[in-house]
Amino acid sequence: MTVAELAEHLRASSRIAAFTGAGVSTESGIPDFRSPGGVWTRYDPRDFTFDRYISSAEVRHNSWKMREEFMAAMPQPNRAHRVLADLEAEGRLLGVITQNIDGLHQDAGSRNVIEIHGNVREVQCIGLFPKHGIPDGCGFTAHHDWAMERIAGGDADPDCPSCGGYVKTATVSFGQAMPEGPMEQASLLAEECDLLLAIGSSLEVFPAAGIPLDAKAAGARVVIINRDPTDLDAFVDLVINGEAGTVLTEAVRAANTTSTD
Ligand code: NAD
Repeated sequence: MTVAELAEHLRASSRIAAFTGAGVSTESGIPDFRSPGGVWTRYDPRDFTFDRYISSAEVRHNSWKMREEFMAAMPQPNRAHRVLADLEAEGRLLGVITQNIDGLHQDAGSRNVIEIHGNVREVQCIGLFPKHGIPDGCGFTAHHDWAMERIAGGDADPDCPSCGGYVKTATVSFGQAMPEGPMEQASLLAEECDLLLAIGSSLEVFPAAGIPLDAKAAGARVVIINRDPTDLDAFVDLVINGEAGTVLTEAVRAANTTSTD
């Protein structure tokens, strides 16, 4: 029944946007943070703050270790990523706002991907004395492999080759300021869309989780597709508790079938 309702929403919309979280990538083998077996069961969340990264060489070391594990797994896009890429290619989806750092939307073929929490494939200089969670680097950036090669060569904590500042994966840690450009783009997309699909997110991490509410306030219909209930369920038009890949595949198939009847 609910998948049929989602199919109706898809048929009635021409300016769809997606807002995705870690749950869209679990079918690709990347654990989310909060589910059983998720990242928080293996790493200490307190280590993922920007301040701890700067103050502790051990935290930096653990952080690089986690990134190395992540990249070595070479995750591939799954059905959910592909359905969204196809909707964009058909001109029905304007773009994807993602909290994910894994780059799998782009790998699936999505073109307009707004990464509000950065990405794991790049590293950047954050300077020697960043304050208030704001990176203050010299502008040095490199591919993730640059850091891995230095670590493999015996430098456990590679610093910036230009200015000696700390180098960090280009992701947004807890306590780190959100990137202004992507947040502005995300707000514009939330205002422009007529249907926002919030997929695979616990909707607990703010300010990101406010984006579906912004879309709702701007007049869009909002559908949450998530394995578990969220605190925002009461505020949206439709909630489907299920697997993202299955729900999206079935809903798009139903929408396409109905539209060609
Ligand atoms: P979260 O872990 O807080 O919530 C994930 C949600 O997805 C859960 O509510 C869970 O029920 C649901 N879920 C899991 N598998 C699902 C599936 N197959 N289908 C449907 N729902 C599914 O994640 P979040 O809300 O994205 O917030 C956590 C933060 O962690 C984000 O900012 C993100 O940057 C980061 N993160 C990213 C990745 C990644 O890039 N793949 C992985 C872990 C965490």
